[in-house]
Amino acid sequence: MNLKIAVLPGDYIGPEVMEATLPILEKTLKKHGHEAEYSVCPVGGAGIDACGEPLPAETLATCRASDAILFGSVGGPKWANVPRDKQPERGALLPLRKTFELFANVRPGLLLPALKEASPLAATRIPNGIDMVCIRELTGGIYFGKPKQTTTLANGEVEAVDTMRYRTSEILRITDVAIATARARERKTICLVDKSNVLETSALWNKVVSEHVAANAPDVKLTHLLVDNAAMQLVANPGQFDVLLTENMFGDILSDEMAIICGSLGMLSSASIGAQKNRHGFPFGLYEPSGGSAPDIAGQDKANPCAQILSAALMLRHSFGLNAEAAEIEAAVRATIDAGTRTADVAFGGNAVGTREMAAAVLKNI
Ligand code: NAD
Repeated sequence: MNLKIAVLPGDYIGPEVMEATLPILEKTLKKHGHEAEYSVCPVGGAGIDACGEPLPAETLATCRASDAILFGSVGGPKWANVPRDKQPERGALLPLRKTFELFANVRPGLLLPALKEASPLAATRIPNGIDMVCIRELTGGIYFGKPKQTTTLANGEVEAVDTMRYRTSEILRITDVAIATARARERKTICLVDKSNVLETSALWNKVVSEHVAANAPDVKLTHLLVDNAAMQLVANPGQFDVLLTENMFGDILSDEMAIICGSLGMLSSASIGAQKNRHGFPFGLYEPSGGSAPDIAGQDKANPCAQILSAALMLRHSFGLNAEAAEIEAAVRATIDAGTRTADVAFGGNAVGTREMAAAVLKNI
């Protein structure tokens, strides 16, 4: 397969972890007989410095001509005084989300058994670590529904309204992302999280997801949890979750809860899946670490490159259907951690290696 990848390293630790990742991606692809073209473009603060824009026109054009975007992270104190709309995060990520209709956020919650100490949960609650994926709808629901307004009433009281609104088509397309994700995993189970005992939108989600999975994915098991119970279950017994599927606001909250119980941001990847298909018939997507540009550790060879490396694996799975290749990268990261090679964020006071040494060890395990 020929892969066209737009590489947008961004700011602070972004270029460091990207530089660490590309040789691992390249070695994996070569080993399996694929060839990739990497177009490296400035974005965020680097875009402002190079072209005066957080998302330069040439960068956007390169993204359009690619099959997927591998993104680092953007922002930081250097651009703190730039006007709000031109800020690296707002000025780059929002237009990318809009241009490519990135409607699904896929966030693996991975806590390797060897890193249990990194979790704020007691080790007895996570005997096998955590290995789940949270899939959050990104472009609908209460954050975008109209009417959305604040009005002063005749009696002087102020009333604010937000509207939660969903359509069948929005639910169907994200259910397909959840099915594809579940099928690539051992347990093949989707847990739909909603509030269908109270909300009309949740009742629609429940009906549409249940019927769609039953009709199109008999090999996938579907379970349901109400959102309040799901929030408790996530800390009581996170090991029970495989793929968690939910709407925008519930996903916003639950995916952050999941991230914190998984320990370091340096291990967590994420994907935003788009409505458009790429040249290979797979969804176009943007793949990035869950964390930000970590200015506090930038330029010191301290950043954990695993989140970026695992983002590349996610890209191979979702935008190219290369499940075996993705699994090989994930296994190499796991083997490296299991062998005791760790960056400072997951070394728990023990010997820590730098970004480059960590990446070299993962590369060796491919
Ligand atoms: P951050 O995620 O950058 O850092 C939070 C903490 O996690 C820091 O202590 C940092 O050192 C640590 N950390 C993050 N990634 C790490 C890694 N790979 N290895 C080791 N430690 C890691 O959050 P912040 O400090 O609030 O934000 C810094 C900048 O990043 C801000 O400008 C923010 O707007 C931006 N940001 C960008 C994105 C994005 O590009 N998608 C996301 C979040 C924040």
